[in-house]
Order: sequence, then structure tokens, then C-alpha cells
Amino acid sequence: ADRLVRHYHLREGLFQRPAKVYAINGLSLALARGETLGLVGESGCGKSTTGRLLIGLERPDSGAVSFDGEALPPIGHAPWRRLRTRIQMVFQDPLGALDPRSTIGAQIAEPLDIHRLGSNSEREDRVDALLTDVGLGSNHIKRFPHELSGGQRQRAVLARALATDPDLLVCDEPVSALDVSIQAQVINLLHDLQERRRMAMIFISHDLRVVRQICDRIAVMYLGAIVEEGLSDAVLLNPLHPYSRALVSAVPTPGRHRGRTILQGDPPNPAARPSGCAFHPRCPAASPVCARLAPELRSVPDGRRVACHLVSDSAERGKER
Ligand code: SF4
Ligand code: MG
Repeated sequence: ADRLVRHYHLREGLFQRPAKVYAINGLSLALARGETLGLVGESGCGKSTTGRLLIGLERPDSGAVSFDGEALPPIGHAPWRRLRTRIQMVFQDPLGALDPRSTIGAQIAEPLDIHRLGSNSEREDRVDALLTDVGLGSNHIKRFPHELSGGQRQRAVLARALATDPDLLVCDEPVSALDVSIQAQVINLLHDLQERRRMAMIFISHDLRVVRQICDRIAVMYLGAIVEEGLSDAVLLNPLHPYSRALVSAVPTPGRHRGRTILQGDPPNPAARPSGCAFHPRCPAASPVCARLAPELRSVPDGRRVACHLVSDSAERGKER
């Protein structure tokens, strides 16, 4: 994804002109085959919009998304059909994703039917294998969504998403609607399936603990932009951006005794985007330049990317020495 921008027009008062609200502001991101990337940040930071842009469910106002070297075509165009088998998405609410009047087996077979993959008996075998893969038995084929628990429903949704053997799976908060006791099981299953199938995965979550278990890389988002991106361990054990530091410090970690940073100020609101560095009103390290100048996302020596004046300054000084 290259320099994506997505804005909406929001009318606040009856007589006011609609304001342009940037949900995504110049976001660039790359994902290698078989790699897992976590997109994290508070609600409203643009994680879900980014996921939808990446799989073509929304079009950017500017910038471009490409998949396997090709620009993503608009939805409904002919090449989209073929791509649809290679890119899949799983959302938070499994109940809303399933048709209450149709059996689990029929719904898992649906992508195979749509794309005319295999004969009838091959499709039946495939549905059977998919159910086993996600830890549901073939006895679930004839069941209806309401007969399943939340965790089982999300497993069924996952089986359907995997039916066409996608190369990229985008999961938007896939476990946050589930009981905590079930979350770990579904996370382990996702991790396992991702490794076995070598598919790339984008895992959108507000929960760093969940992301840490699955992702090779993490991108931290704030108000529609990436503020830090790098290998999971680097970002989680030694966050460089003040916002990532605050997020990480809020997660209790055994063996880490540093204090917790409590963020001051209002939660991010895309309709009232601060000048300069969008994080400056809440940043404990802000200096006068931060309100004037937006920091660029720059590479630092260990290979990660960070958007903060403080960090790029110290990296520059390191080079001069
Ligand atoms: Fe804080 Fe300034 Fe860095 Fe923004 S640029 S994160 S306000 S120190
Ligand atoms: Mg969301």
C-alpha cells in the first residue's frame, strides 16, 4: 500500500459546511508472502479502514494498493473475482457474518460454489477437511449458526475464509467478541493455520497481548497514520515512539517493571486533528516544534520505522558521531 488517503465528509451543524475528515492520512505498508503483521491502536485510529482498503472493500481517495505486483482493481470488475479467492477477511462478529437460515456446511461450501472449484463430491470432501482443520467435526455440516457457540461460529467463519486457500487473510478483531476463555483457543488456531498454510496475515487488534502471540511485525497507528512499525519484539520490548511506549506500558508484562505511562488529554478524534505531530497534545515528550511540524515516518538503524522528531533527531546525531 502506498501513500493511502481516505477521507469522509462530516457535517457537524446544520448550517456548517461539511468538514473533510481524514480517516487515513498518507499510509504506506508492505507485507511479504507468509508474513504476519499486527495493526494496533486505539479505536478510531483507522485500523479497520486500513484493513478494508488493503483488501479493496474501500477505495482510497488517493494512493494505491497492489497485490502480488498488480494494482487492486475496483470491486466488481472482472479481475476482482479471481483475486477474491486469494484475499479473504474475517471480522469481529461471527454471528453477523453467517446466514442464520443456511447450514454451516452450505456456508463453508459457498466460496467453492461461487468460484466453481471442484466437483460436488470434491467440494463435500473439502468442507469436511476444512471443518477438521478448524477443530469442528463433520457433525457440524448440517447444523445452523444458532446451534453453535460464539467460538464455534468464529471457527466456521474461518473455515469459509480458508475454503479457497487464500494467500492473504485480514482479521479485524477476530476474537474480541468472544469470551476470554475462548479467545486463546481461537488465537492458537489462527496461528497454527497461518503457519501451516504459509499465508500472509494482517491482524487488526487493540490488544497488544493478542498481537504479540501471532505477529512477526507490528504497525502502531495513531489518527490514520503509522507512528511506529517494526519487528514485534523490537516494538514491544523497546518501543521508540512515545505513543507506542504508552500503549506497551499499559500491558502488564512479567519481568518488566518499568512504570506505566498514563496518557493525558482527549482520545484521538479524526474530526479534530491536531496540527504538526497529531499526538502532540497527549505526548509526554512534546517540544514546541511538535505542534508545528509533522514528523515523517523514517527508518532508524535497527530497521524499524518511526515518526517522531525526538527519535529521528537522536538517529541523526548517532550517524554524526
Ligand atoms: Fe511526541 Fe513530538 Fe515525537 Fe510527536 S514528534 S511523538 S509530539 S516527541
Ligand atoms: Mg475497528
